[in-house]
Amino acid sequence: MDFDYDVVIVGGAFSGAATALLLKRKNPAARVLIIEKAEEFDRKVGESTTEISSAFLTRILGLSNYLGHHQLVKQGLRMWFAKQPEQRFDDCVEVGAKYQARLPTFQVDRSTLDAHLLETAVAAGCDLRRPAKVTQLQLNADRSHVSYESHGIHETVSARWVVDASGRAAMLARKLGHFRQNTEHPINAVWARFSGVKDWDSYEWRERFPAYANACRTARSWATNHLMGHGWWCWIIPLKGGDVSAGLVYDSRLFRLAEGANLSERLRAHLLTHPVGREIFADAQVIEGDVHAFSHLPYYSAQVCGDGWAIVGDAAGFIDPLYSPGLDFCSYTSSYVADVLAENLAGKDVRERLRYFNQQYPLTYRAWFETLYKDKYFYMGDAELMSAALLLDVGSYFVGLVTPVYKNPEREFLRLPFEGVAGRIVANIMSFYNRRLVALGKARLAGGTYGEQNAGWRELYDGFVPDRRVWKLIRKGLFRWWNAELTNLRLTRRADVPQRVPAASAAPMNV
Ligand SMILES: Cc1cc2nc3c(=O)[nH]c(=O)nc-3n(C[C@H](O)[C@H](O)[C@H](O)COP(=O)(O)OP(=O)(O)OC[C@H]3O[C@@H](n4cnc5c(N)ncnc54)[C@H](O)[C@@H]3O)c2cc1C
Repeated sequence: MDFDYDVVIVGGAFSGAATALLLKRKNPAARVLIIEKAEEFDRKVGESTTEISSAFLTRILGLSNYLGHHQLVKQGLRMWFAKQPEQRFDDCVEVGAKYQARLPTFQVDRSTLDAHLLETAVAAGCDLRRPAKVTQLQLNADRSHVSYESHGIHETVSARWVVDASGRAAMLARKLGHFRQNTEHPINAVWARFSGVKDWDSYEWRERFPAYANACRTARSWATNHLMGHGWWCWIIPLKGGDVSAGLVYDSRLFRLAEGANLSERLRAHLLTHPVGREIFADAQVIEGDVHAFSHLPYYSAQVCGDGWAIVGDAAGFIDPLYSPGLDFCSYTSSYVADVLAENLAGKDVRERLRYFNQQYPLTYRAWFETLYKDKYFYMGDAELMSAALLLDVGSYFVGLVTPVYKNPEREFLRLPFEGVAGRIVANIMSFYNRRLVALGKARLAGGTYGEQNAGWRELYDGFVPDRRVWKLIRKGLFRWWNAELTNLRLTRRADVPQRVPAASAAPMNV
């Protein structure tokens, strides 16, 4: 059978459904087909939203009401550092906001969020084949053909545009030879959902740790809590209904997950190596059948569009889940592609816009990687260095992306970050401080002082806001970085003087 569509979208999860919905809203006459492999969505990673992906969900897609009723409101990002596995819980370093988050962000159960988005796209007039697995794509300049299999039946549809929203399957990037593994960043992840995780704000904890309980004015339970270590970090994300998502991400140059009976036991055992994890996960159980792992996480497509095709979301690339940028990329690419296709179907020449997307996407990917992630695992377990990075990274994100997006979301979601000369300057500044923090982390490891300050302090700041007050936090981050540079200089000078005492052990601590 041959059907005719203007646009066929492969994959109906976040990026596919969002692209379809936006396209249909911009061009109601467009004939859009979504082909989704899964009969039902299951829970997946991508549960913590940022200020950018939340602005996309609330301002562009208009899902505030749905999110408020069906998902959890997130209360910021918190990081926990320890010096020794046997350290007391309330001696660990905590870094995060003191008060409720100022902008809306959410902890989402992706099985229900993606289902809702897809339903909304269908209600807006998009067609859906489901469960239907795309098996073949034939791209032609005027009309492409998409073949799929559903319940044992094979069908082919034709379309002017094919959009790849197939996630890590990255169908088009692989087929066209544009798929590139990011081998400079050898990170892997293991994750599961748990039941029986302790409540960070319980009465029991108030009694046991009164100073901890009184230090913070918001609920820590609703935050994305991170346990930090040398070469690894773990996320802890609450989900509506009480289950908790927890996962480990590690750099295989620096860390190996200890052996164990099975993957869930190995993950659980690892969480218990951190003093905070030991308290929180003491009675927790992995939900059966819900443990997963990915290796070689980062990759990208060297080209993301051509005449008649475009790639959105994870199908175009992925870097690292620290700071949760995955749905930010999905938001930018889905919004851009939907707009270009709507214009083209309305008869406009979009060659310049396709050229922009192909040129800017790899630049954005590269700049985002080098500024925020490259070699970060060398210093992320050191509370002083990582807290400086957190203030600088999130502060820059607020200045460069969050503030403009809240001023004019419709415009800002139609361009990609790190654009133009200003984007290159910002990327250079941020990459520079990241490289310096990496160098300081390595120097501390070599000198045996890595993680020396991972005990006895809490930094609970006012919170990031999209106005000039954010500069206070950036200044704090700068001073902390410069202070670390000065300490390093002093130690280097002292090391130049012949020492009678042997240098401290250079072996990195696991926590
Ligand atoms: C460990 C880890 C943690 C993460 N944590 C976060 C986080 O906290 N916050 C965040 O923002 N991001 C996070 N991410 C990233 C986030 O998960 C992704 O960016 C997001 O899920 C991508 O959405 P998508 O719609 O592009 O792709 P997906 O969600 O992968 O959807 C692809 C869809 O395509 C369908 N499909 C695939 N092949 C076919 C086919 N042949 N035919 C038909 N359909 C097909 C699939 O069934 C699926 O429904 C994380 C990623 C990882 C790896």
